[in-house]
Amino acid sequence: MSGVCAYIGLGSNLDTPIAQVERALAALAMLPESRLVVASSLYRSDPLGPAGQPDYINAVAELHTRLAPLDLLDALQAQELAQRRVRLEHWGPRTLDLDLLLYGAMRIDLPRLQVPHPQMLRRNFVLLPLVEIAPGLQLPDGSPIHRHLAVLGEGGIQRL
Ligand code: AMP
Repeated sequence: MSGVCAYIGLGSNLDTPIAQVERALAALAMLPESRLVVASSLYRSDPLGPAGQPDYINAVAELHTRLAPLDLLDALQAQELAQRRVRLEHWGPRTLDLDLLLYGAMRIDLPRLQVPHPQMLRRNFVLLPLVEIAPGLQLPDGSPIHRHLAVLGEGGIQRL
């Protein structure tokens, strides 16, 4: 499978977040017209928001895909929905968050989809797994990912 090289950010802070991320990786491996090339290690980061929440688990996956960007986003959102659980307590934003970080060197600015993902350069829990699997990767503007990670530092994250 050739196609475009896309990077997907995965995150969960449900009470079984490792299982959520692993289930999402298995689902990515089953996407049509796509091949899951590599997944990063899992990383644990400090919980945000209300106290007593489970830690966040994050990972990044590299996908080679022939899906168009919005079709890929549809597939990611369908998987988020499949893994969403309704709870009476407030556990935080969601049980599974799937972000399309990069889609080749393409820049996309649609109401539903901005690529590169607008928040990725502020999140070391995204950049650290991304650098693990793609150390030489550059953004569409040519700037090396590892340099953005160096700016943020690697604090607050533990590789599992
Ligand atoms: P969030 O709740 O932060 O995960 O945001 C979800 C919303 O972000 C959805 O409505 C998406 O359409 C939108 N979105 C925009 N750009 C992206 C992207 N690169 N990856 C995933 N969702 C995106």
